[in-house]
Amino acid sequence: MTQEELFKKLIAHCKEYGFVFQSSEIYDGLSAVYDYGQNGVELKNNIRRYWWEAMTRLNENIVGIDAAIFMHPQTWVASGHVGAFNDPLIDNKDSKKRYRADVLIEDWIAKIDDKINKEVEKAAKRFGDTFDEAMYRQTNPRVMEYQSKIDEVNKRMVAALEASDLAEVKKIIEDCEIVCPISGSKNWTDVRQFNLMFDTKLGSVTDEANTIYLRPETAQGIFVNYLNVQKTGRMKIPFGIAQVGKAFRNEIVARQFIFRMREFEQMEMQFFVRPGEEMKWYEFWKETRMRWHKAMGLGDNKYRFHKHEKLAHYANAASDIEFQFPFGFKEVEGIHSRTDFDLSNHQKYSGKKLQYFDPETNESYVPFVVETSIGLDRTFLLVLSSAYNEEKITKEDGTVDERVVLKIPAALAPVKLAIFPLVKKDGLPEKARKIMDELKFDFACQYEEKDTIGKRYRRHDAIGTPFCITIDHQTLEDETVTIRYRDTMEQERVPASKLRGIMIEKVSISNLLKKI
Ligand code: ATP
Repeated sequence: MTQEELFKKLIAHCKEYGFVFQSSEIYDGLSAVYDYGQNGVELKNNIRRYWWEAMTRLNENIVGIDAAIFMHPQTWVASGHVGAFNDPLIDNKDSKKRYRADVLIEDWIAKIDDKINKEVEKAAKRFGDTFDEAMYRQTNPRVMEYQSKIDEVNKRMVAALEASDLAEVKKIIEDCEIVCPISGSKNWTDVRQFNLMFDTKLGSVTDEANTIYLRPETAQGIFVNYLNVQKTGRMKIPFGIAQVGKAFRNEIVARQFIFRMREFEQMEMQFFVRPGEEMKWYEFWKETRMRWHKAMGLGDNKYRFHKHEKLAHYANAASDIEFQFPFGFKEVEGIHSRTDFDLSNHQKYSGKKLQYFDPETNESYVPFVVETSIGLDRTFLLVLSSAYNEEKITKEDGTVDERVVLKIPAALAPVKLAIFPLVKKDGLPEKARKIMDELKFDFACQYEEKDTIGKRYRRHDAIGTPFCITIDHQTLEDETVTIRYRDTMEQERVPASKLRGIMIEKVSISNLLKKI
């Protein structure tokens, strides 16, 4: 199965099993807006909880807030979003399709990079054990030529974007002979800037002064509250404020399912530090956040850092954590050293002092900020895309069966325990309900009595339920039940009284937290 096929199947699976639906589907949907279904909302809540507890429970100096989506319009002038939250867009005149100009160039670079990788793979096969990849990359003329093309285009793009030189961005597209993926033509419009913020009117007067924005990031709600929290919580620097909430961006090109949405959720933490200490904390949070990801156990080799060459208007250092999605390595989280840009600007625009008095140094200053910013929806996609598996199973009678199983980390699974009476009679349903009534206070349980046990297993494999418990006639005699494990499909007979203890150990979020 190619990665593209896998991704298509995953999207279909998300719909079929109540994880993700297209928004307003009965009206043919709304582009790049999605709804979470009955299983999706549970998985999303669990990921959110894993992040929230990692931030606010594991760090005594981090607290949470929940700020409103609407903010005073000056907020977005001060933050630079009104002036600079733009993407360069370009249209193809033949297909009438709109693209982000920088993404077209990045995709072109990725294609050349693919060519290099293919050359390297071929050479590795040819030379076998004696192959020295680094040497080959530095000396093979074809690879060197590709690499120098990449470096040159990258340099030109970064310079053009930094200088907002849109004519040069277009020239790069022309020089690289980039064609529209739909029409195949090079018939491009000029490149224009496009502001990504949604605006609306506050109250009933449609006056320009009443224009307010749907926040494009949650961070600003934290910045404007930083002194409220610092004072009421008696926080001492360094300290952090965490928040989870909706953000809105009018993305030019929104593809790839829930990877790029127009309404999405961010989990952000702003860490306030002494000026001059930001690089230390930047490195600290890079490493800490990577450990959070790896603790989910989805495969350490699927993650990598990507250092930003072109920095956002507020940053003096920035790295992304990228994950290997079915469509390649892509950003899931950003770690940014935002300097004192935001607080200083809010101080300037509001006329209110936003300084912190440091009792250790006896000085007042505007703190520097290191932020970690992760998309909840992208993390959801990351978990599901690595959890999705199709397996062939040889049954006892020698026939081969297939199953789709979501190997979601047990602590994040929407349903932790499925409880089945073997048959719908002989008092087994009543016994099963009784066991469920004891467990439902601690775990998300589901009771199922319809169809054969095999079919019930498949249904729960498909939504990632890690444990299925079967109650049979023996249960009535000796109070034992069978646990069936999702990943190994092994079964084990255990006393019903031990279920709670066994489950707590396997499915609680604290298990993940301890691994960070
Ligand atoms: P990209 O380069 O992919 O547009 P970004 O660098 O603009 O992302 P940030 O502003 O750093 O993203 O936002 C932090 C995180 O929020 C991202 O790492 C991502 O997980 C998430 N995010 C940003 N934009 C979207 C979106 N349109 N849909 C879903 N998640 C998003």
